[in-house]
Parts: sequence; C-alpha cells; structure tokens
Amino acid sequence: MHILISGAGIAGLAAARELGARGHDVTVVEHAHRLRLEGTPVDIRGDAIGAVDRMGLLARLREQRLRMSESSHFVDGDGEPVGRVPVAATSGADEDAHVEILREDLVRILAEALPDTVTIRFADAVRSLTDDDVSDGGGGHDGVRVCFDSGRTGRYDLVVGADGQHSAVRALVFGPEKDYLRHLGVYFALVDLPGDTWSDGVNTIHNVPGRLAGVFRYKDRTVAVFQFRSGPLDYDHRDPDAQKRILLDAFAGVTSWRIPLLLDAVRAAPTLYFDSASQIRLPSWHRGRAVLVGDAGYCPAFLSGRGTSLALTGARFLAEELERNGDDHTTAFARYEARQRPYVAFAQTSAEAGRDRLLPATRADLAARDAALRAAGSRPPVTRSAP
Ligand SMILES: Cc1cc2nc3c(=O)[nH]c(=O)nc-3n(C[C@H](O)[C@H](O)[C@H](O)COP(=O)(O)OP(=O)(O)OC[C@H]3O[C@@H](n4cnc5c(N)ncnc54)[C@H](O)[C@@H]3O)c2cc1C
Repeated sequence: MHILISGAGIAGLAAARELGARGHDVTVVEHAHRLRLEGTPVDIRGDAIGAVDRMGLLARLREQRLRMSESSHFVDGDGEPVGRVPVAATSGADEDAHVEILREDLVRILAEALPDTVTIRFADAVRSLTDDDVSDGGGGHDGVRVCFDSGRTGRYDLVVGADGQHSAVRALVFGPEKDYLRHLGVYFALVDLPGDTWSDGVNTIHNVPGRLAGVFRYKDRTVAVFQFRSGPLDYDHRDPDAQKRILLDAFAGVTSWRIPLLLDAVRAAPTLYFDSASQIRLPSWHRGRAVLVGDAGYCPAFLSGRGTSLALTGARFLAEELERNGDDHTTAFARYEARQRPYVAFAQTSAEAGRDRLLPATRADLAARDAALRAAGSRPPVTRSAP
C-alpha cells in the first residue's frame, strides 16, 4: 500500500519503520526542516519494551540508556537538597520494565532503522485531504487525495496522523482541537543552557508554589526545565517569542535559587520548546482511510511519563493489525484501537498524580510534599502495576 504519515516524531518514525519493514511504500511529511531532536529524556515502559524488542531495537536503546531519575533532587531556595525525586514518580523502578533515554537518541535510533521503502519529506505538511471512503461511502474510488502546503498533491491508500498533540490530520478528519483537548492546568518549557557550568552532575529541581524550575545535564547538553500551573492560554504554537513572554510572566518576581539566571537564559535563547500538559480524548482514532497514532490520537500529557510508550505500542499494533488483516483497513484499525485503548486509559488516568507530586499548588502543599520526601528518605520507592 501507499501510506502517508504526517509527522516524523516518535510515533511517525516508529510507524514508518514498522509499515516500511512490511513492504509498504511509506512517505513521511514533517513540517520542521529536520528531525526535531529537542527534549528531555523520555521513558519506555511496560509493554512498549516488548514492542521495541519486536522491532529489533531494544539492544540499541539499552546501549543509550540513562539513569537520570536516580540522580535528580529537589532543592530549596538556597540549593540545599530536600529529597530525591522518587524513582516511581518519573519512571519505573524495575530495570527490565523500563528504559530511560534521551529523546534525541530515540529519534536517531528510529530514523536509522528506517528501511528503503520509507521517504521523509521535510518542510512540508498536509493542507487538505479528501477520503473517498468517507465522501462516497467507499463506492469504488479507493484512496485519499492529499494536497500539501508545498503545492504538491498525492494519492494514498491510507493516511496516518502522527503529528503530535496539535495534529493537523486530526483537525482535518475529526474537527478542531478544542473539541478533544483536556487541559490539565500545567505548562512546560525547555531551554538549552549554553556552556557546561550549570550542573555538577546532580540534576536539580526547585519549587515555589505552583511552579518549578530545574537544571538537567544529559550527556554533553544542559537544559533548563520549567513547569507552571495555569488555566488554558491562547497563544500561537509556532511563535517562540509569544511563548517566552508567557513563561517569563509566569515566573515574574521569583528570585529564589537560580531562577533569575535561568530566566536570563530564556531571554537569550534562540528558541524553546513550550507546550501544555493536555490530553487528547477521542471516541475513535480512525475514520475512513485515516488513522491517528501517538499524541495526535491519545496524548496522555507529559505528566504521565507515558506518551512515548503509547506512541511505540500504537505504531507496532497498527502495523501488526494491517499485516494480519490484509486490505481490510477498517478491521485493522478497529483491532489496533481495541489493543491500544487499555494502555491509553491507564496512562491518562495516572497523569494527574504526577502533577500534584511535581507541582504542589500552595505553600502548605509544598511543605507537606517536602516533609514526605524527607521522611521517605531511604525508604524503597513504591511502584504501580501498569498494563
Ligand atoms: C521537539 C519536541 C520535544 C519534546 N520534548 C519532550 C519532553 O521533554 N518531555 C516529554 O515528555 N515529551 C516531549 N515531547 C513530546 C513527546 O515526544 C511525545 O509526547 C511522545 O513521544 C509521543 O510522540 P509523538 O510522535 O506522538 O509526538 P511528537 O514527538 O510531538 O512528534 C510529532 C511530530 O509531528 C510534527 N508535526 C507537528 N505538526 C505537523 C504537521 N502539521 N505536519 C507535519 N508534521 C507535523 C512535529 O514537528 C513532530 O516532529 C517533545 C516533542 C517534541 C516534538
């Protein structure tokens, strides 16, 4: 089949690898000019480990594995440690059921594993699509006609929307984002820090009520991480200056720890990654010949720590079901969805616990969290079972 994938993030690259490896002719369009390598480490857990193993990538992922969570501390306004970030708050404690890896390493490993049947076209995006299955009930004209921003056109047997939380394919097929978005009341920003003097190897997080800032060193890179509580904000997802202004306003007047220096770094940074902790909840992830994978269909919010795992299991299940069901994409999509739903339900329900642990809302909540961290001290971390 000729398959178009929108988005070359984790879900798009994993789907391209899996579909291409099964002999499909796959085109990926990515609106950025290159693979996007920003991001903090991401977690691969639970059955996503099995999925990457069956993709033949687990050994390579383990080679690049990090152990960030084990060396992360909350600190007070003077930089004194308050307690370790509990391992279960950010990752699983079971070595075999969890791989923590730099997002850029995962992107590179997936990209390097793409077979020759896959082509990536950068700086282009889907502008419109007409699905014959939907427009004439599948009455003989089988395919999706696609127009791209570049002016190109194409005809595909299937279209996979893997274009993230603000998916263009989802908007075209299912309607506007506001109909499916559930905002969890938190924003997240990431800025590269120049030089190597910011971190002495211990990753640190400092909270003030409703906000946190942290400094993390990953291999040869240091980044500042910010989170803050806020209701939904109206801003342009592609305007970094607007996003910087929101971030600086959220931390205005905070002078504890290294926050003023970190805000200077935000002002000077050429770009930043900024998004909300939001979930995407759709009653179905497929319509006609279009199907959604990853955050586009079921973003669990970064607070869950499970978006990457969902993208990987989703890509794998979709490819397996298309293989099993031959040309019957309708059955394949339904079976993909049935297999993936329990993982999404678990991830989406666990997200809010992550928020309250990382971002206590009030001074009293923060004091209680810190007291619990100090008391937990050397106690072993508690883990939860996941599908
Ligand atoms: C640059 C970046 C940094 C991130 N950093 C973190 C992080 O630090 N922590 C964390 O928990 N999660 C982070 N994420 C999100 C995380 O990667 C995902 O939640 C998860 O891996 C699921 O992957 P996904 O492929 O569904 O979405 P994503 O990884 O977000 O990938 C979506 C891809 O689609 C592309 N795209 C978007 N719109 C279009 C369009 N209209 N046409 C074509 N392509 C489009 C994007 O450029 C991106 O490459 C980051 C995502 C990105 C893109």
